[in-house]
Amino acid sequence: GHRYTVDLIAGDGIGAEVVPAATRVVDALAQRHDFQVVWRERDWGSAYFFEHGRMMPVDGTEQLADADAILLGAVGHPDLPDHETLWGLLIPIRREFLQYVNLRPVRVLPGVVSPLREVSDLDIVVVRENVEGEYSAIGGRAYRGSAEEFAVQEAVFTRTGISRVARYAAQLAASRGGSLTSATKSNGIIHSMPFWDEVVSSVVAEFEGVRLRSVLIDALAAALVLRPADFDVIVASNLFGDVLSDLTAALAGSIGIAPSANINPPRDYPSMFEPIHGSAPDIAGKGIANPVGQLWSASLMLDHLSEGAAAADLMSAVEDVMAAGTRTADLGGSARTEEFTDAVLRSISTQS
Ligand code: NAD
Ligand code: MN
Repeated sequence: GHRYTVDLIAGDGIGAEVVPAATRVVDALAQRHDFQVVWRERDWGSAYFFEHGRMMPVDGTEQLADADAILLGAVGHPDLPDHETLWGLLIPIRREFLQYVNLRPVRVLPGVVSPLREVSDLDIVVVRENVEGEYSAIGGRAYRGSAEEFAVQEAVFTRTGISRVARYAAQLAASRGGSLTSATKSNGIIHSMPFWDEVVSSVVAEFEGVRLRSVLIDALAAALVLRPADFDVIVASNLFGDVLSDLTAALAGSIGIAPSANINPPRDYPSMFEPIHGSAPDIAGKGIANPVGQLWSASLMLDHLSEGAAAADLMSAVEDVMAAGTRTADLGGSARTEEFTDAVLRSISTQS
């Protein structure tokens, strides 16, 4: 069988609790499906920062460059500014490897009661632009501390950047029934968002059978709560996609279940797989974090490595366990991270 090298960055907080769940489960699947994963553990993150003054080594991304994939937990520490942790690790990896698509699927898993009525059929994929847009280091602050203080934050949108994420989203929509929604705010953000709308609609026009709706982000947030079943693939800028995917995850029960894939189609940089949640300092160290977002991310990684059968077995084991009523506290259950993971491993061991 194949042998894959996967860089493992557990990172901070509950990252260190849910990443081991994923490695245990992937190792079990590897044995059953006759492949091997060589984990390269990286002690990067906030603890590394406190020792070395940076989140990862200077040549961190070079060290990752020959990996088949990267599996990440989360970064973020109460004693560090969030922009240090994000811009010191996550964002450089996404940009260095041009992971311009951040794919964020959600479904209502068995046994989960959504906070909304009638959403058992919710099945949404947010395609988040992942390397430009509102996440920018361009701008500044002046007159710090004075009454005249101000901040300027520039967003950067390029034709290339919008086109490639729109094309990916349109292809995905074409493979899932043809519904594509684009999140916009062209009534208020009058330079970048009209440009986003124009480029998205011209790219999607090349795809026969894909129906595009551009919806203002505020109205879209409301519509997702009121009529989630109306939506399938949603393409959105970096910031809008980030916000919408926490919303869609919550509609599916908890942000603890939702995965993401940072990918660079069709080129062959390493891709990075991570849950959408953060380091959750409020529950870190208690052993109660929901590992499903991390496990689902590992399933997306196995799919990406062309181990589709193992990826499907992983998700069906998770669904079995959920259907049997084993749930963590965020979903109203009492299972601990390790108990949930043990149950997934038992389910895998009984798969044919
Ligand atoms: P968060 O996602 O860490 O937590 C939000 C809420 O959801 C918390 O109440 C938390 O307990 C709960 N939650 C999250 N994941 C859970 C899980 N797997 N199981 C059960 N409950 C879960 O967001 P936050 O509190 O806004 O941010 C905390 C830190 O994480 C900050 O430093 C932030 O910058 C960072 N962050 C990192 C990433 C990332 O690494 N990709 C993403 C988001 C936030
Ligand atoms: Mn987020």
